[in-house]
Amino acid sequence: MKCHLCQNDRKLCDSHIVPEFLYRDLYKDYKLMGINGQGNKGWKPLQKGIREHLLCFDCEQHLNDKYEKPFLKQWTVDSPLPDRIAQDAAHTAVYDYPKFKLFHLSILFRASVSSLPTFREVNLATHEDRVRRMLITEDPGNEWEYPILAFAVLNGRGEVERRLISCPIASRHEGHIVYGQIYGGAMWWISVSSHRNDLFCRAGLQSTGQITLIAEPWSEIGVVQDASQALKRANL
Ligand SMILES: [Zn+2]
Repeated sequence: MKCHLCQNDRKLCDSHIVPEFLYRDLYKDYKLMGINGQGNKGWKPLQKGIREHLLCFDCEQHLNDKYEKPFLKQWTVDSPLPDRIAQDAAHTAVYDYPKFKLFHLSILFRASVSSLPTFREVNLATHEDRVRRMLITEDPGNEWEYPILAFAVLNGRGEVERRLISCPIASRHEGHIVYGQIYGGAMWWISVSSHRNDLFCRAGLQSTGQITLIAEPWSEIGVVQDASQALKRANL
């Protein structure tokens, strides 16, 4: 069968679409998250352990070694989010731009090539091949290509909520298609467009690797329009 990343005819692994390490804390105190409560604005929790035959062993290893392991180290060891951030406050950190950006794109790519109904909203269409090549060659592309906005997600106790993993959703922002997903304590939005998304370029991940996350209660920002309001309040 054809591997979706290298496109060679290979035996395919039963691949995770969202890396398993992001689920590590998911089931502790699951009920405390209130994910099924009111105000979740359409976010649905992503079921654990969703797999599909998508990638060959070598490509699976490539994504793991080049993007997942470095992301895990940067995000949980080198520069983790604090346990608490005040609502509407900004948290800034610097990460390795190529690896950090391509990690998020690797999840988006897998969701796009997946045939599972859970990921039906993600369709990179003509961008799929561009992202595929970027992932193979470790090329993060230009800063305006697939820019990433992120928000720290707070739970009802004002703590960064790391246990929440949502299904990806598609939305629109000023004419651009944007995809949103919550994992790792943050809500990530990626703009997929052939032209520049000014807000995302200004307020999102910079090519220096710097990213500023505004902390928002997850019950209050569900859609990208709300997210851009939060950025305006923070003067980003
Ligand atoms: Zn492959």
